[in-house]
Amino acid sequence: PLVLGIETSCDETGIGIVRGRSRPGERHVLLSNTIASSMDEHARYGGVVPEVAARAHLEALQPAIERAVAEAGVTLAEVDAVAVTSGPGLAGALMVGVGAAKALAVSLDKPLYAVNHLVGHIAADILDADAPPLEYPTVALLVSGGHTSLLLVRDLTSDVELLGETVDDAAGEAFDKVARILGLPYPGGPEIDRAAVDGDPTAIRFPRGLSRASDRAAHRYDFSFSGLKTAVARWIEQREAAGEPVPVADVAASFREAVVDVLVGKALDACAQHGVPRLLLGGGVIANRRLRDVALARAEAAGVTVRIPPLSLCTDNGAMIAALAAELIGEGRAPSTLEFGADSTLPVTQIQVAARDAV
Ligand code: ATP
Ligand code: MG
Ligand code: FE
Repeated sequence: PLVLGIETSCDETGIGIVRGRSRPGERHVLLSNTIASSMDEHARYGGVVPEVAARAHLEALQPAIERAVAEAGVTLAEVDAVAVTSGPGLAGALMVGVGAAKALAVSLDKPLYAVNHLVGHIAADILDADAPPLEYPTVALLVSGGHTSLLLVRDLTSDVELLGETVDDAAGEAFDKVARILGLPYPGGPEIDRAAVDGDPTAIRFPRGLSRASDRAAHRYDFSFSGLKTAVARWIEQREAAGEPVPVADVAASFREAVVDVLVGKALDACAQHGVPRLLLGGGVIANRRLRDVALARAEAAGVTVRIPPLSLCTDNGAMIAALAAELIGEGRAPSTLEFGADSTLPVTQIQVAARDAV
């Protein structure tokens, strides 16, 4: 089946087209993955502005759909199913995608699958044609501007458990905020990565928030990054008050090290606790060179295999949403009814929303 996926949970308008497997054992085929980002419009605010993102989706959707269809070499009439992100994400941004998906499904008279954005990030992995098929169970670490989630995936379409998430800032958000403190432009992740090249990661020992698994937290593997951000701000203030120059490269490298240390440490602790020798990485922060290097090195020492999909599938995109729907369709799952809306806090355990009762 030909599946068209729509993703509008944050600042990327993503349209992806996937040819779902026709028989068991085959792979889904990625035909096109179009992304229009409103990132530039948010740059002067230092972060994503929800209203700006929603309006940008409205303008970008129609041309993005046309481009995705053309690049896939298909026509809209050939589409067998529509898939859309129902949540979690920015409410207004999600609403634009959900509205468009319902209109498209109704006008084409085709089934609609409303799915979870975070589970979509995991589904991105199955589109990586160069990797062997995903095995279960696997631990997944999703890190982006809006999310920091550690998941135990026993089955992509039926069993995803939340092991931990951030209790304050997302990891990407921490990069963006610390970049701002250092006077670097938005988005801060790539800027800090660049600035850190000449820095010493051991120059400053910044705090590692919630660095150990805790039974007192809401989830054993919750994360916290706002204390780290405050510690960086304090450290710089003290330097400036003393009339000393701020060693930007050392601050960037030391901050990055603290984030990477906690992310990788907890992900591997979760692998050990659950006896799972597989770790899947996803989300835009995976672009961070140091995060990938440390994850690969420490995982190897721990006997854990790491999977990192290509970056174009790690950042928000429509193909991962189409892929998740293709999996559901492959299992014969019923589509969603039209009685669903955007759910900005959709829990990761809800993989598909408003599924019809199977007949
Ligand atoms: P969502 O949270 O819904 O997935 P998002 O748009 O916030 O969406 P992405 O587009 O996946 O997230 O990722 C953007 C984030 O990734 C930004 O916070 C950015 O600073 C961060 N980022 C990008 N490159 C790097 C890097 N090299 N190192 C660290 N962070 C990075
Ligand atoms: Mg983004
Ligand atoms: Fe995302």
